[in-house]
Amino acid sequence: MEKEEFLLQFEKNLFNLFGKDLHTSTKKEKYIAFSKIIMNELAEDWKKTSDKHKNSRNAYYFSAEFLIGRSLGNNLLNMGLDEKYSQILKELDIDINDLEIQEEDAALGNGGLGRLAACFMESAASLDYPLTGYGVRYRQGLFKQYFHNGFQMEVGDNWTLDKDPWSRRVESESKIIRYKNQVVKAVPYDMPVVGYKNHVVNTLRLWQAECDDGFDFQKFNNFQYDDSVKEKNRAEDITRVLYPNDIQRPGKVLRLKQQYFFCSASIQDIIEKYEKNFPNDVNFEDFAKYNTIQLNDTHPVMAIPEMMRVLMDDKKLSWKQAWNVTSNVFNYTNHTILQEAMEKWSVDVVEEVSPRIMDIIAEIDRRFVSDLVGLYYSVDRIDNLRIVKDNTVNMAHLAILTAVKINGVAKIHTEILKNETLKSWHDLYPDKFVNKTNGITPRRWLFYSNPELTNFITELLGEDWKTDLTKLKELENFQDDESVLEKLMEIKLHNKIRLKKYIKEHENIDVDENSIFDIQVKRLHEYKRQLLNAFHILNLYYKIKNNEVSDIPKQTYIFGAKAAPGYFRAKAIIKFINEVKNLVNNDDVVNKYIKVVFLENFNVSIGELVYPAADVSEQISTAGKEASGTGNMKFMLNGALTVGTYDGANIEIFNHAGEDNNFPFGATVDVLNSIRDTYNPVEYYYKDENIKRVLDTLLSDLINDSGSFMFLDIYNSLVNRDSSFKLDEYFVLKDFNDYEQIHEKILQTYSDKKKWAKMSLMNIANFGEFSSDRTIKEYAEEIWRIVPNEKI
Ligand SMILES: *Cc1c(COP(=O)(O)O)cnc(C)c1O
Repeated sequence: MEKEEFLLQFEKNLFNLFGKDLHTSTKKEKYIAFSKIIMNELAEDWKKTSDKHKNSRNAYYFSAEFLIGRSLGNNLLNMGLDEKYSQILKELDIDINDLEIQEEDAALGNGGLGRLAACFMESAASLDYPLTGYGVRYRQGLFKQYFHNGFQMEVGDNWTLDKDPWSRRVESESKIIRYKNQVVKAVPYDMPVVGYKNHVVNTLRLWQAECDDGFDFQKFNNFQYDDSVKEKNRAEDITRVLYPNDIQRPGKVLRLKQQYFFCSASIQDIIEKYEKNFPNDVNFEDFAKYNTIQLNDTHPVMAIPEMMRVLMDDKKLSWKQAWNVTSNVFNYTNHTILQEAMEKWSVDVVEEVSPRIMDIIAEIDRRFVSDLVGLYYSVDRIDNLRIVKDNTVNMAHLAILTAVKINGVAKIHTEILKNETLKSWHDLYPDKFVNKTNGITPRRWLFYSNPELTNFITELLGEDWKTDLTKLKELENFQDDESVLEKLMEIKLHNKIRLKKYIKEHENIDVDENSIFDIQVKRLHEYKRQLLNAFHILNLYYKIKNNEVSDIPKQTYIFGAKAAPGYFRAKAIIKFINEVKNLVNNDDVVNKYIKVVFLENFNVSIGELVYPAADVSEQISTAGKEASGTGNMKFMLNGALTVGTYDGANIEIFNHAGEDNNFPFGATVDVLNSIRDTYNPVEYYYKDENIKRVLDTLLSDLINDSGSFMFLDIYNSLVNRDSSFKLDEYFVLKDFNDYEQIHEKILQTYSDKKKWAKMSLMNIANFGEFSSDRTIKEYAEEIWRIVPNEKI
């Protein structure tokens, strides 16, 4: 669009939408008017891409979560229009960045799993793969977090309140969803997924629950105001909130209704599109030739019985024909081995949502069991594999039985699945299991969030690396080039100053940009061991207080983490970190050396400021517990060094970038497995003075949990000898000393700036493997068997 035309459009939008002009409109209004222009600008590519997909084999990504963040800046960058519009707006005295930060994050996910889905969508578009995303348009995204007296507080996240210019409502493609006691309408909202400078625009289709005749005029007329909109509210409740529970899941029926809602709508949609392409003779035998569906975790597994239902009840296929289609369409990604996250539903809950779906699941189970009996499996062995057992439906088992391919998300995770968690399934179907190590999109997590580093790399390597991140390897040629290393550190400093300003503005803490920025940002969970980090800081506090150390470099410890609202101990850890923060920051001796920051409301947009500013990336989960991690990759790409356990993708990061260029520490999975039954953390407590000093702080007056008994709970979870549960389940005390030692090594290493810079460069240079472009290519070639559309 030419500049003059843009100005006309911009003013026209401002006037038509808000009755305002360039001078009277607010920044938010300008953001909306501007975004609508960009939506128009991509409309043609969007249509062309959709048309091309009609003739090819398509893949569909089903996910209850898409943690998108903001769209404007990234879409402009991918369209190659960021500089152009930045310039045009500048001439109007508008800073494009001021408009970008008006956008509310679309936080339709909890953490890594949802962000992975968003990265995958972007990479597929950038590689021109025909991939469509399907999910839920939650009215309320993940709660917003703030701290009150150090406690986490949650408020609703009404992200669409002041319009959502990045969605297009497609009323005409609505679907009807039938529950046992309710019928609702699913209305699709399509979001464009813009590929990187390739004129590809894929679609993310999110469903919203509504009810056309949900308003009862008679009741309203009879003064029954609440009752008159009861049906409307009951329908809208289905997509009202994203369940913020990372692991614990209440509100069972509503939650399952939500899952069935988007699965049913999406399955109907795909089948309808398939039929449209064969107007004369629809042949469902070929359905799996043209369509493949990826289930992101077990949340969308209801799609399996729903597919059977539609094919049999609506399309009149026999069970055998329907199963032949269904069992060739789905693939399943497992994201965790935490037992509490393995999704199970009691039969009566499934029946309350849809009796027909429960019938179908029971029949799938019955036939499966009969097959196993035919293979002379013992009763015990069969019991291990059953889909319905003890009146409970095991969603993972349903997914595994039906799926063509099942994948874990990092090498170690897939091995644990095959050899432990899903061993009996692996024995039955060894060929189904594959590994697809996660990745992240370099567009959002480098080009957009760290433009200075991006430009510097381009100065060194030319443009080619931007579409093939493995070419970053050429940076190794500069590992001894002092001016390159200095420049790298200068860029890091600039990003630290950017974060410092944010911290000052939002947390009112002064931090020193020349201190080591040591950062742990991720969901709060015991297995991620933020507690270990906090214990280390407390230990450092005592060491400084008691003159046990001297002449150490300055350090800034930065946290960001949301806890599930019902997860008491995670909230206790947040309170504890905030207390340690106050203790450290208010102590005039200690705060000369260290500061602690806990960023409120960590989300994608804050991440874009945080990852580029890190010197040290904290990835310290209990070995075996973190399936992959993706935060670790974002830090790596931006040149942070990883202090991490041998867990998830950390192991692969160490392998690619070199253990010597990072800080691995702690007990391995094998070690933990061998001591699990005999581990006694109480011994560590009495034998190690540092550990005792730190743990006793929990019960001391130095910090205060305001009578919540949260700190006693943490203490008891680690070393209460009278407890009936497993003490220190996540081996915090076991790894404490290793962690202390590795931190000493970090400080020593940092004092040699040149060495540090070289290590940083080696991490960036070896990032290639962790681009989600690599991951998506593997899914496309080995699981989905789809090929890129030709360039437009
Ligand atoms: C990447 C990301 C995560 C995942 O972080 P992990 O360290 O892999 O757990 C969570 N939340 C947000 C906002 C992210 O961007």
